[in-house]
Amino acid sequence: MLELASRSGPNASARRRIAWFCDLDQVHRDPSLLAAAQEKAGLTTLLPESHHTHTSAFRASPETDRLCPFRDWRTRPGLAEHRQTFKLGPEDFPVLPGILPGADDTPLRAVLDAAHALRIEVWGHWGLWSYGAEVYPELAALDLTGGRLNSLYARYGHGFCPSNPAVNDWMLACLRDAVRHYEIDGFYVDHARYPPPANLQALFSCACGHCEAEAGRLGYDFPAVRRAALALRLALCRLDTDRMRKAGEPVRDLEQALDLLGAPPESLQWFQLRARILAGQVKQFRDAAHEEARRPLPFGADVFPPSVSLLAGNDYALWEESADYLTGGHGAIVAWNLVPVRACRELAAAALRVPPALPESDVLRFFYRLFGLENLALPERVGELDAFDKLPAVRLFELEYRRLADHWGRRVPFYPPFPGWLPAREIERLLSVLQEVGCQGIVLSHVPLDKPDNLSVIRAFAASKV
Ligand SMILES: [Zn+2]
Repeated sequence: MLELASRSGPNASARRRIAWFCDLDQVHRDPSLLAAAQEKAGLTTLLPESHHTHTSAFRASPETDRLCPFRDWRTRPGLAEHRQTFKLGPEDFPVLPGILPGADDTPLRAVLDAAHALRIEVWGHWGLWSYGAEVYPELAALDLTGGRLNSLYARYGHGFCPSNPAVNDWMLACLRDAVRHYEIDGFYVDHARYPPPANLQALFSCACGHCEAEAGRLGYDFPAVRRAALALRLALCRLDTDRMRKAGEPVRDLEQALDLLGAPPESLQWFQLRARILAGQVKQFRDAAHEEARRPLPFGADVFPPSVSLLAGNDYALWEESADYLTGGHGAIVAWNLVPVRACRELAAAALRVPPALPESDVLRFFYRLFGLENLALPERVGELDAFDKLPAVRLFELEYRRLADHWGRRVPFYPPFPGWLPAREIERLLSVLQEVGCQGIVLSHVPLDKPDNLSVIRAFAASKV
């Protein structure tokens, strides 16, 4: 297991990590939250994100700002559409990769000081490729025929090409800059992925020239892989009742799911290639952060839940070679309980738009089965899947946590995203699953300081033996 940063003390590697993906500005306004979360929930690690800049509110040096391919973001034609899609205010930064020029780092510096005074470690944060490309279409991911993606699924994120050197070289510069100028104890990169699989157009990106060149370098026959992916896209439009009936048994993995869809076996390579491209880039970032830091600096990223991870570019085995720890996403777009459900929703909705008309419940059940969700009593109508609060959150989280056992090779620590807001008896059950699976900690997006029963359960987990 990785050594913790020195401020965490010599015995820290035997402790569980209780991390908080917090609102930087909230903690800046009320730093007493840190001591409360440490005392009541066993908080060890802060992952601060400003809801204004969508990073830890780093300020890059003028030299790094000059390299930024997004310097003119304030005057881009796509900015208004982006802000509308993600409900951002007129002063909010767009959700773009790296450190945009113009942030005020006063809150970050204050929170670093407050956290370090309590020996709480701070992991810096920013996002990579999966949002904001509607603001910079010339750098966006392209589909299998070289076309741009439209706005049909934009609410799930409009991704950048993950192989474009203009973006990636600048992000390397941002990373070195942040590691050099801020006393952070680790790094957490968000959005290091393609958009979630509910964005059906993004499933078939990126096939631009940069990615094709990368595929060649990795030993893939890109034209053949592209043909297979096109055949899969066609198969998704040709569901029939015979095929759905064949899906009577539990589906083992993505390879079997593709076969049930009638796609050629080579279509699996499309998803493997995408995963290799991302993992290779993340490894470069991790190695650069280590080189620049010259101090222990855990560098990790969030991945999609096991049920759909490979569809969106996360092959856990590859990521364990590229990152020092793994975690998962939060929020309505990438929360682990919702990503597979939303994929089923969009796949079923798309299939139902194509004649002949098939029974809605049969189509939904087919996709539930492809993702192994068939035993969760999920709705039989597509529209009902939008009522997130009526979905079985506990069972959906538990399913993904248990699936970690088969997907995670345990070569790096795993700190899954954790719903601390659920009732205490439910989070106790979920934490016991994580203990069984061997996870070394959790990441909370909300520390339930107003729920004493929840706090005592989390504190007991924090104190338990790793
Ligand atoms: Zn590309």
